[in-house]
Amino acid sequence: MNLRNFDYEELIELFKSSNFPAYRAEQLFKALYSNKVDSLDKITTFPKELRAELSANYTINSFKNMKKQISVDGSIKYLFTMEDGKSIEAVFMPWYDDTEKTNIRNTLCISSQVGCSLDCKFCATGTMKLERNLETHEIISQILDIEHDLDTKITNVVFMGMGEPLLNYKNVARAVNILTHPLTDMMSRRKITVSTSGVVPNIKKLANLRRPPKLAISLHGTTNGFRDKIMPINLKSDITVLMNAVEEYYRKTKLNITYEYIPFDGMNDSIEDAKRLAKICKRVPSRINLIPFNDISFTEPSGIAETLKPSSSERIAEFANEIRQFGGIVTIRDTFGSDIDAACGQLALSERNVRNTIV
Ligand code: SAH
Ligand code: SF4
Repeated sequence: MNLRNFDYEELIELFKSSNFPAYRAEQLFKALYSNKVDSLDKITTFPKELRAELSANYTINSFKNMKKQISVDGSIKYLFTMEDGKSIEAVFMPWYDDTEKTNIRNTLCISSQVGCSLDCKFCATGTMKLERNLETHEIISQILDIEHDLDTKITNVVFMGMGEPLLNYKNVARAVNILTHPLTDMMSRRKITVSTSGVVPNIKKLANLRRPPKLAISLHGTTNGFRDKIMPINLKSDITVLMNAVEEYYRKTKLNITYEYIPFDGMNDSIEDAKRLAKICKRVPSRINLIPFNDISFTEPSGIAETLKPSSSERIAEFANEIRQFGGIVTIRDTFGSDIDAACGQLALSERNVRNTIV
């Protein structure tokens, strides 16, 4: 059993049932997430016998293997192989100040599932189908193992890798609980962003966490007609239902919302779209993040997917200005790692491995 699968309260229960004193659970939790030990043998606050007993029954390591690929822009894509032989990816993105000397933050984009069941037409992960949910320890270990490998601190985490985090709700919520627990100094809830394509019932649940994270909504359309076609989840919860859930999320958490929006040439980048986006943006404090469409032609798209082309960078800049003129707040996302197929929506191992070798 992996000890990174337990949040603080669960560790206390586990220790109680094993007749260990409760303060040992606190020591273990701090060792795992404050001192960030990578082996149970290194918990020096524990007597030798306890270390031996824990090592005999538990582990804290998740992955059989880790490989990485470094982009010219400094981002690093990690490929982790799990105990069952399946693999996932995470992308490390360092940010520097204007002098390009001071490292101001390190963002890690992590996976929550192997593949994804939601079949968004523009996303490479969607073409993989869902293989399985990640366990909590596999979510947490992406962060801890990369911190260890690079000897640096991850300051921000975004659930924007493979999978739909709100369809692995229990394990994602537990990971958020661990990362933001006051006994660790890992990160505040404001440094964690959960991105969802709109799993409405679980947006409502996430708002009720003790320390809810920031929420990003993959919107990508301003009309149900278009969103239905590119994101089948819209047939379950349409834009009106989704927006009501977003409003409730803001009301409960007081955290600003981000809307992710890929402008597709001639399909969702008109001035009317800009007007509707600005209107959406004014409902609760929020911003629109325009994401340039990343190439997924290696998945051999067909049907509507084949017709999706990126808006030009000139049009994206103009579109951003139009949204601003109508009163919306908008940013354009910096793309990291496109040379190593690590950009948004490109994480899909089975297809990509054919043309891209990881070292
Ligand atoms: N399942 C979640 C999180 C993973 S996807 C979600 O859908 O929100 C992370 C982000 O990448 C989402 O906003 C998604 O819409 C976007 N994305 C997917 N494919 C993309 C592509 N080909 N180009 C640009 N962004 C993409
Ligand atoms: Fe799944 Fe998100 Fe990709 Fe849609 S965009 S298929 S929800 S990972």
